[in-house]
Amino acid sequence: MGDAEQNGLWQALLGEIELTVSRGSFVTWFKNTRLIEQSDEKLIVGVPNIFVKSQLEHKFNQLIAEVLQKNGVGTKTIEYRIQSASPSSRQRDNKNTPQLVSVSPRNDTPAHMKQSPLGNVSHGYRQGLNERYIFETFVVGSSNELAYAACQAIAASPGTKYNPLFIYGGVGIGKTHLIQAVGNQVITDNSKARVVYASTEQFVQEFVDALRFKKTTDFAKHYRSADVLIVDDMQFIAGKEKIQEEFFHTFNALHQANKQIIISSDKPPKEIPTLEDRLRSRFAWGMTIDMQTPDFETRCAILQSKASTHDISLPNDVVEFLAEHVPNNIRELEGALNQVLAFCEMRKVEPELAVVRAIFGNVRARPKHITARQVVERTAKIFQVGVEEMLGPKRDKEIVLPRQVAMYMLRSELHLSFPKIAHELGRKDHTTAIHSVEKIQREAALSSHLQQQINTIRERMYG
Ligand code: ADP
Ligand code: MG
Repeated sequence: MGDAEQNGLWQALLGEIELTVSRGSFVTWFKNTRLIEQSDEKLIVGVPNIFVKSQLEHKFNQLIAEVLQKNGVGTKTIEYRIQSASPSSRQRDNKNTPQLVSVSPRNDTPAHMKQSPLGNVSHGYRQGLNERYIFETFVVGSSNELAYAACQAIAASPGTKYNPLFIYGGVGIGKTHLIQAVGNQVITDNSKARVVYASTEQFVQEFVDALRFKKTTDFAKHYRSADVLIVDDMQFIAGKEKIQEEFFHTFNALHQANKQIIISSDKPPKEIPTLEDRLRSRFAWGMTIDMQTPDFETRCAILQSKASTHDISLPNDVVEFLAEHVPNNIRELEGALNQVLAFCEMRKVEPELAVVRAIFGNVRARPKHITARQVVERTAKIFQVGVEEMLGPKRDKEIVLPRQVAMYMLRSELHLSFPKIAHELGRKDHTTAIHSVEKIQREAALSSHLQQQINTIRERMYG
């Protein structure tokens, strides 16, 4: 069977698998697989990294076998083989499809990306891109696949679609990584391209300096000569009228010249106070993407991916412990991982669950004198609803939110099991509890109001 034909078959099988697993699972575990070999004895599936390999082997082998059989492919065994895509096909693939990309070892960085990004920059401005932030090291899951796909599309042909691209979401979830990956990719593809990356704070500071030293023409020239302008953390522009005006002109100049503009922020444009309407409406010209906190599976994949750059393979229970322990912020998740690795290296022990528990045990200690019922009561009080209502059948918004927050608190503070949480709130089905906890985690990352309510409940629990 020819290569193309084989992979036609594989694509058809994937199509079927896509219908049976969650979107996140599909993108994370299946999307970047291919068929390497097929005979009566065995089928060899190419996978991008060890983590995908072990997930397919342990979690999805049965499913794959069933789908194969259903489609008349009789094969005795299925083997998963780690296969890194060749650099050229990797680049090509990357442009079109979101995928789980394995981390390439550091020395794998294309030579032209290693050079200092200062090469073709005038006026002493730096491009400021971190060479670690590339698509290859970004793990894709359902929470970020849309942003990832948009960024790849832009990297492939800047200025032609999604202009501007506005990505917003909570802290530490990969916005900077992703938008810098666009810049790095554009430079990789065309070393002459002018990519200008600046945090909003930097933009503000440089503008203030330019005013002071009467160099506003230089400032304007620098930003307006970009092929791709990336401005990070736009929320800091709030309340700064003069800067907003300057940015407005920069925006117009670039947009008219079909240059790409990419903006990130921790809130959507409509929630940035005193953002001028004319800027807000400009942002609406392109595409606005709400990036979510990576879900549990993606967090696990990120951990494995980061660990593998240290040549370490973490046991699944350790990965799951960390992914659950640090739910909202990938930067913190990386920090926790580094803590574990450093500890293990120092003590010359393996990163086992017992060790990891010992490191983080104190953080997970539950408050001593508080019962599940008290958590529910305190939550009800903050939201000014009755406990009985929360335990009852009502599905009104005013009741559902506190109910979900109570479940979240029971999980994050008392570390109860999901069935127990469901029971405490008078629900029969524990999946309700799982969904509620994940939902509140996501929403708390985006809404400072909700975050505050949660903090208040927490304070009253411990206080
Ligand atoms: P944000 O800009 O949203 O605050 P960052 O882009 O700075 O977040 O991400 C924080 C850290 O987490 C970075 O080191 C980044 O590489 C890492 N990170 C976040 N999301 C991912 C991901 N999906 N895959 C790999 N690393 C990630
Ligand atoms: Mg950032």
